[in-house]
Amino acid sequence: MRFKERCAQFSALRDQMDAQGVKTPYFRPIAKTWGSEVEVDGKRLIMIGSNDYLGLSHDPRVTEASAEAVRRWGTGPGGSRFLSGNLTLHTRLEERLAEFVGKKYALVHVTGFSVNLGALGCMITPADSVLCDRECHASIIAGIMPTKARMGTFAHNDAAHALKKVNQASESRPDGDVFLITEGVFSMSGDAAPLKELVAIKEERPGVIFYLDEAHSLGVLGKNGRGIANACGVTKDVDFIMGTFSKALASIGGFVAADDYQSLRYLKIHSRTQIFSAALPAANTSAVLTCLDILEKEPERVERLHAITEKMRKGYQEIGLCTGSSASPIIPILVGSDEKAFLFSQALFEAGIFALPAIYPAVPRGEALIRTAYMSTHEDRQLDFVLDVLDRLAGEFKVRKSDFEIIRAEAAAAEAAGGARAKLSYL
Ligand code: PMP
Repeated sequence: MRFKERCAQFSALRDQMDAQGVKTPYFRPIAKTWGSEVEVDGKRLIMIGSNDYLGLSHDPRVTEASAEAVRRWGTGPGGSRFLSGNLTLHTRLEERLAEFVGKKYALVHVTGFSVNLGALGCMITPADSVLCDRECHASIIAGIMPTKARMGTFAHNDAAHALKKVNQASESRPDGDVFLITEGVFSMSGDAAPLKELVAIKEERPGVIFYLDEAHSLGVLGKNGRGIANACGVTKDVDFIMGTFSKALASIGGFVAADDYQSLRYLKIHSRTQIFSAALPAANTSAVLTCLDILEKEPERVERLHAITEKMRKGYQEIGLCTGSSASPIIPILVGSDEKAFLFSQALFEAGIFALPAIYPAVPRGEALIRTAYMSTHEDRQLDFVLDVLDRLAGEFKVRKSDFEIIRAEAAAAEAAGGARAKLSYL
């Protein structure tokens, strides 16, 4: 279908939704933020949809360090790091990050997305095989696709399946490398990877190159937030650790870290998003350096984040919500259809809560969810308010576990009686 036709089709779909009064919850214009609260359309809302897990975006030490960096280096980088935008701050940050995650070297990029795009894009060739978790982030897929490598997936968090696929790839394409890629914490489900089991694959297949995306585990898991590889004690066995600054590190930007000097030297020059994209601005770089200082000094922030997460998980379970198997501050709430998720998100908004739905294709069809995420700066009164609202909406929207069980039983009975497969449109 031609571009103009696709645009017309998309517009018709959106017009139809508008006519039905289903408001899209995305691109909400935030006029002001206080971290755990934001203002949208003149309404103050409790934010439970942010990845600013440690609430450091509003920490005065971080904002002051950013402002100071702007005064010294200006607002824009003026070029890519390769040319005129390379700052002493970038090198300092690379040294700090490498030490923080337990690797020898690190390379800073302008976003996390551009790390996955650029680093994977130049590491992998058409002769290689790539195996990644079925739920890996779009930036990982975007990095792999243009390489024309043979790409496969393994069942989500299933190390036995990953091993089987690695063995098949190693045997069928012995001349290429095999890359094994996963995330520390998955951005929608909040699940943590079974990292020890996945890394153990290298015992059987030492040549496998293990690439770990710590976007949502950095600042959240491990000693002082050093990440999931640190938490599982497998840092040495992970060949490449990538992370972003756009979550717990209260900035934007990203990095990839490794012990092998030659690998990072290669990435530095061959990553196209490094060479052909502007450098990370000084304000963002300086913010990350200050966040790392704070993380070293204040482990209680990470502890508070875990305590809040436990409180909310327990609260949701008591309400009877389906929260999956999250092991992180991301707690998804299963809602069902995409439309129901939009309406649920709107009801949350009206009640004073900012949380967004994740719909197909970000999650499987019929399993739309409200992605909630917590910050160490959330106060108990805010969290109690959220639990009260969720308790009320769970009844109104019929999203308790018991509701899903009834719905499934009715669907199975209808299918058995009528022969035709009942449509689970209400899910
Ligand atoms: N990896 C994962 C797992 C992510 O969730 C994201 C962003 N949500 C990225 C990479 C990209 O990071 P950034 O937003 O910093 O570009």
